[in-house]
Amino acid sequence: MGKLREEYDSLIEQRRKIIEQLTMLEESETVQQYIELKKQNEELYNQQLSLYRDVKMEEYASCSHILVCSKLVYDRYEGRTCEWCGCIKCGLDTSVLDSDYPLGLQKIMYDYLKKSHLHSLNIQEIKTDVICDMDLAQVIYAKIKSVYPNIDDETARKYFEIALDNIRNIKVSDERKENRAKRLSLDSKFKKWDISYLLYS
Ligand SMILES: [Zn+2]
Repeated sequence: MGKLREEYDSLIEQRRKIIEQLTMLEESETVQQYIELKKQNEELYNQQLSLYRDVKMEEYASCSHILVCSKLVYDRYEGRTCEWCGCIKCGLDTSVLDSDYPLGLQKIMYDYLKKSHLHSLNIQEIKTDVICDMDLAQVIYAKIKSVYPNIDDETARKYFEIALDNIRNIKVSDERKENRAKRLSLDSKFKKWDISYLLYS
């Protein structure tokens, strides 16, 4: 017991010295400036998060959506397939309504859809017959938009469908798929090129 007590007392002493040094440092101008800047940074970060939410909400509200089916879920109780859709332009995806605990960007979409009482996106939309992973759909659209910045929605839809058909119909090796994913700024291990991924999700 004596040895443990010694160890304990020694720790108290070490901490006392450190606390003394910390107190001295806190009084220095540089450290005070550091603390103040850290506080300001945190406040700005919170404002940034809140503004990001507003920016996304406005983006969703003002977008004339081009929709793909983003998720198919078979409802065993109702005996029907539920179809969620998402926009290849702004990324708004109704499948977030199927999530119990949406987080981050998903939470913003969730709140937007709930607030606007939207279960499907019926306004100003172009609906495709395409079933496609949302990440893939959005990077293809972004690529089209970067080559043709002034493209109209109807033409963009056609180009999107052609690009996706090419990706799906031309068989390539896994290595080339990886390179294609990198080119499109997707994860190199991206697997959701065709709709077979829905069978495993
Ligand atoms: Zn949209």
